[in-house]
Amino acid sequence: MTGEEYRLARNETIRQSNMERYGFGTNIMRNIRICPECGLPSTAAEKHCRTCGTRLPRETLFQQYKKRHRFCPRCDTVVAKSAQFCPECGMRIQMFKPLKLFW
Ligand SMILES: [Zn+2]
Ligand SMILES: [Zn+2]
Repeated sequence: MTGEEYRLARNETIRQSNMERYGFGTNIMRNIRICPECGLPSTAAEKHCRTCGTRLPRETLFQQYKKRHRFCPRCDTVVAKSAQFCPECGMRIQMFKPLKLFW
């Protein structure tokens, strides 16, 4: 593992623990930006990390999180991979179409 890989893996761990600490409340996540350098949260209104002064990413924690999970297109509630309907608003959610890698 190179130093860079180690740093990324460590940041990933910190990010995950932040998510657990803050829970999955979307309103909270919309107002948090995570520092790419030290992994600590700042508010979305801040441009630089409160702790170390690193420039914060444009994306809020919510936007980063959204990339990795399924969301209801209507109300932005996180839904389980297997869910067909949103538990919040009842919107029908399209299943991921599995890629045909094998014949
Ligand atoms: Zn920082
Ligand atoms: Zn919904």
